Amino acid sequence: MKEDILHNLNVINDRIKNACEKSGRRTDEVRLLLATKTVSSDRIKIALEYGHTLIAENKVQELKEKYEDLKDVLHENHFIGHLQTNKIKDILKYDVSCIQSLDRPELAEKLHQKLSTENRTIDVLIQVNTSNEESKFGVNPNEAIELIKKVSHYSTLKIKGLMTIGLFSAETEKVRTCFKILKKLQQDIIQENIPNVEMKELSMGMSGDLETAIEEGATIVRVGTAVFGARIYPDSYYWDEGKA
Ligand SMILES: *Cc1c(COP(=O)(O)O)cnc(C)c1O
Repeated sequence: MKEDILHNLNVINDRIKNACEKSGRRTDEVRLLLATKTVSSDRIKIALEYGHTLIAENKVQELKEKYEDLKDVLHENHFIGHLQTNKIKDILKYDVSCIQSLDRPELAEKLHQKLSTENRTIDVLIQVNTSNEESKFGVNPNEAIELIKKVSHYSTLKIKGLMTIGLFSAETEKVRTCFKILKKLQQDIIQENIPNVEMKELSMGMSGDLETAIEEGATIVRVGTAVFGARIYPDSYYWDEGKA
């Protein structure tokens, strides 16, 4: 089990390295984030102790369950799942440094209210629905700038960039189109010069398509299956929950 995880991490690092070389980018421009949904604390610890310290959960409940086990091992937590407003109070208890899935004004407003009372800030990425699928969360690309302008007024929310899941398809070029949409949007937002908005991060690419994402400018790739193995729940359980 330990050997498998370490071997898989080495394979992923090589894939990232090769993709960076192919697109003329430096390896340190791309961070590996481990998507740890359904993965036990013991297995996560193996990766953390090996030096892969950026991890993310999709559900506040799982974050909570693993918190005690992981709190003494150096790591950084992002959140990449759909965040319900009634979970805000909870998520802020568990040292999440970045919420990558900010996708609607009400969520921003409620986060800001709560953060203000606690006198703290949090990094956020704006999640964009680049595949135009009804079932996926994320703001429509056409509405992203409007959302970002709203969020930029909340002093507790530090916008660092964009996140997308993209189309789940074996056809690379269709997937690439989604990543190009995110990159183009990033450029458009930079042009707008909105105060309090940084646009450095592009979180895109997963186990199956990280090379394509890196070629299109990803700065964070989110990998689960290729490191920890297949999950028993279908991804729809995490991605479309309460939708469609
Ligand atoms: C599960 C998940 C990933 C990782 O997907 P894999 O195909 O297992 O690499 C990436 N991003 C999000 C939002 C996820 O929920």
